[in-house]
Amino acid sequence: MKLISWTTTDLAIIKVLTLLLLLICPVTAGSTEMEQTIRFIGNEDLAPIIYLDNGEAEGVVADIARELGSVIGQKVIIETAQWEEGQKMVIEGSADALLQMNPSPLRAQFFDFSVPLLESEFSIFRKIGNRESVDMESLKGKTIGVENGGFPHTFLQQLENFNLYTFSDWDDGFKRLQSGEIDMIIADRWIGEYHLAENRINDIQIIDSPIESQHSAIAVKKGNIELLSRIDNALIELEQNGMLDTILRKWKGQRVIYLTERKYKTIMLYFVFAALSMVLILSLISMKRYRRLSHDLEIEVKKRTEQLSKSNEMLRNANVELEKLAVVDELTSLTNRRGFESEIGRLWYLSRLKGVPLAIIMLDIDLFKQFNDTYGHLEGDRCLISISSQIRKNVQGEQNLCARYGGEEFIAALFDTDEQAASLIAERIRSDVEDLALRNETTGSPVTVSCGVAAAISQNYLTIDGLIDNADQALYKAKQSGRNKTVRFSTVI
Ligand code: GH3
Ligand code: MG
Ligand code: MG
Repeated sequence: MKLISWTTTDLAIIKVLTLLLLLICPVTAGSTEMEQTIRFIGNEDLAPIIYLDNGEAEGVVADIARELGSVIGQKVIIETAQWEEGQKMVIEGSADALLQMNPSPLRAQFFDFSVPLLESEFSIFRKIGNRESVDMESLKGKTIGVENGGFPHTFLQQLENFNLYTFSDWDDGFKRLQSGEIDMIIADRWIGEYHLAENRINDIQIIDSPIESQHSAIAVKKGNIELLSRIDNALIELEQNGMLDTILRKWKGQRVIYLTERKYKTIMLYFVFAALSMVLILSLISMKRYRRLSHDLEIEVKKRTEQLSKSNEMLRNANVELEKLAVVDELTSLTNRRGFESEIGRLWYLSRLKGVPLAIIMLDIDLFKQFNDTYGHLEGDRCLISISSQIRKNVQGEQNLCARYGGEEFIAALFDTDEQAASLIAERIRSDVEDLALRNETTGSPVTVSCGVAAAISQNYLTIDGLIDNADQALYKAKQSGRNKTVRFSTVI
């Protein structure tokens, strides 16, 4: 790598160049900025040709000036001012050019004019009903209103025998014309018409043939030929590329259409009628839609209600089934202990009410553990099912109950049955089970059951639990005395 080494002469040259650059740059930048900006001044009250609108210059010639800037390639500032003040600004050099000026010999002493910009027709505005002739001769001695500093002002000032009234704004001029203070106004037809239409003035007429037709131009300070030639070239280019036409069409299209009071009212009436009709139609459509929606909703609600009541019905049935399942023994399909206990109280109460005995039979399979051990649990289950059906077969009747009370224990409640009758039924069950001949090889004899029987009429001193306990004691006795037996409680005590 090689380091750069500077000699004393090199450094001196660099210093001089830097100084020169520092001196030149601000000047160049300033002059470029100045050269690049053209400051146009327009009349602030010549709508729609040029006017001040919300602090911005607007109008036909303002648009033309903007386009002109982009053709020339310079920044354009467009401002508005009182017309006389604007003219002064250009003469004094604080602005570059005037937009929309009608050339006259007097003005030519101070300004140079561009190629034609717009055609101006200076027409007479006067009150409707005034039938006097309007040639130049007949105007003599009349009071004529003109805008201060405008072309008619400078034009008529040079002629004699005219009473000129100079107004500073259009409102003032047209009000004086309406009140008869002045006889007529001479103004650019387009500008005057625009003002009448904007303010809906309908008692002023315009004389068709203009007193003077002129071409307006852009004016620069006398002698500023360089700027004028740039403006001229740009205007010619704008005309050739059709941009001037486009701008004019835009502004002609925006001209306010003049309406009489009557026509205005009729149009407003049509508008209100159309708006009301629209509201009515929209309301009808909404109402129809609302009705259809509410009908659909009604159907939907009905459908959902039906579905809900069906679901409720299914739920109720499921609950009933569940309740049934809760009181039924799954293996034997007999009522389980819970089911038995919920029913037995009612039977015990009925027994007291009717004064009839209630009998309880407790049954227990003999040596069932051994059976299970020998043949297995499944075989034991089948045995439980067979014995259950023998119990059910012997305990019939609506008022009687039989249930699986626990593992291999069963219980029966017989309404209006005494101990003797109940022991006969128990004995029948016992022998039916024996007859099943379910072999138990360990014992060498078939599967048997032992039964304990107790019966009583419900009385204060004995509870249903007490009665069941009595039957259990009798069963215990049956087991003790060799099994496969029916023992009555009354024989135990
Ligand atoms: P005892 O004659 O004294 O009543 O003798 P046991 O063997 O029947 O009495 P233990 O109380 O000793 O045995 C009862 C047996 O019943 C034990 C158990 O395996 C059987 N067991 C209880 N519930 C069921 C069941 O649901 N299925 C089957 N397979 N066996 C059951
Ligand atoms: Mg037992
Ligand atoms: Mg047993």
